Amino acid sequence: LHPDILQFLKETVGEKNVRTQIIDRISYASDASEFKHLPDAAACPTTTQQVAAIMEMAFRENIPITPRGAGTSVSGLTVPVKGGIVLDLIQMNKILKISPEDRLAVVQPGVVYGDLDRALKPLGFSFPPEPASGKVATLGGNVATNAGGVKGAKYGTTRNYVLGLEVVLADGQVLRTGSHTLKCVSGLDLTRLFVGSEGVLGVITEIILRIDPRPLETSTAMATFENLSDAGRAVAAIMKSGAVPSVLEVVDRNCIRAINQNTNMELPEVAAILLAETDGSTKTETEAQMDKITRVFKENNASSVRLAQTAAEAEALWAARKSAYPVIARLNNTVISEDTTVPISKVVDMLEVIAELAVKYDILLVTVGHVADGNLHPHFTYDSTDPDVSRRVTEARAELYRRAIELGGTLTGEHGIGLGKAAFMSLEHSEVAMGVMRKIKQALDPKNILNPGKMDLDVCQE
Ligand SMILES: Cc1cc2nc3c(=O)[nH]c(=O)nc-3n(C[C@H](O)[C@H](O)[C@H](O)COP(=O)(O)OP(=O)(O)OC[C@H]3O[C@@H](n4cnc5c(N)ncnc54)[C@H](O)[C@@H]3O)c2cc1C
Repeated sequence: LHPDILQFLKETVGEKNVRTQIIDRISYASDASEFKHLPDAAACPTTTQQVAAIMEMAFRENIPITPRGAGTSVSGLTVPVKGGIVLDLIQMNKILKISPEDRLAVVQPGVVYGDLDRALKPLGFSFPPEPASGKVATLGGNVATNAGGVKGAKYGTTRNYVLGLEVVLADGQVLRTGSHTLKCVSGLDLTRLFVGSEGVLGVITEIILRIDPRPLETSTAMATFENLSDAGRAVAAIMKSGAVPSVLEVVDRNCIRAINQNTNMELPEVAAILLAETDGSTKTETEAQMDKITRVFKENNASSVRLAQTAAEAEALWAARKSAYPVIARLNNTVISEDTTVPISKVVDMLEVIAELAVKYDILLVTVGHVADGNLHPHFTYDSTDPDVSRRVTEARAELYRRAIELGGTLTGEHGIGLGKAAFMSLEHSEVAMGVMRKIKQALDPKNILNPGKMDLDVCQE
């Protein structure tokens, strides 16, 4: 970066909030994905005015800007592939307002999901999307990726809760979208345009979120299935029964084996475990829902069904699912977590495809997933120093995406497109759809300075 630009950044955000040392640049070069690229510098603004000033300068000088929250993206969304400046928003971390009577909270983008949750809990409220990364991921990142979690089937994703935004546009103008009301149909829905936009359309500097009363009670059950198709049929039957599980998780045989090899849990090595939770205001309500679910488990040949009678028993049932990620992380030197999502009725077909790909490409695939919304997480765990296995993993991933789309699914239910899936956008989106997305990108970011290289939307290569 030209010394004048660095000087400008220091004057705008303060000297200590501009990072140019190689050690800092290395930290900003990657996220939780396999991609890396050094930025020229990072700046940590604390106000919307500072963000606007930086964007105005970047627009004038044609400098790439990559907005960044906690950097937990697993698909290269925050990797500054064209260099330039990383805009680290973690210091814009104030909860500006919590108004239970209006059912909303107003926050800055750098607030960590878990911090908002802690602030809402004593008031009896929650912001339900609950991504698994919620202890560290920011709300700005959650909005920019439309994050969701295990409770997606009942509570939806971040998109369902964003009432309005303040966004700094590529040229430094400040846009306000939506309103402080739960209902608003005024004008085009610009709020939704920015939700899930991965930092390619603007920098989110304030968020108005709907909050919900916190469920007071839960019921938990676990079932084992010797046969994958019985588990798949049980999922479809639960969804058809009218029951509304707040959680319905699958753990596949490879994952169960990995848990057994790395813990002392001694789980039955069945084809699949399903873990269900229902929540509500009273035990009567959650138990009535859970009765339906356990009945469906039994009707679909579950080899065992365990219903938790106490909080400690519920915790024990959750243990297998909760241990999955730490165990998977230890299996090899590289783990790639996919988020293939298909219609619920196709979950079992997708699980069969995953098993087929593991054999075809001779790789280890370990799967957990949120089956009530069709979102599976097959994990490729492998030795990335071995070029042959790396090539097979790359080929298997490409086939996984293609097969998910063939089943009527999507490339990504949670993690976003970023760099990892940019080359596959046209598998899912028609030329017309890609054309519309690129026109929107060009209208809002004519110089392609905002998070360039992502989502296959670049129309103006600098
Ligand atoms: C262990 C683990 C578990 C995970 N579990 C889940 C899960 O359950 N559900 C899920 O959905 N995801 C999950 N993820 C992925 C990731 O945590 C989410 O995508 C999360 O929302 C990213 O938040 P972040 O603050 O880390 O954003 P970053 O990774 O820093 O950024 C993500 C994207 O948002 C953009 N961005 C960030 N802040 C802003 C802003 N203020 N304005 C404009 N653009 C911005 C960035 O440019 C980038 O494109 C997981 C990741 C890990 C490592």
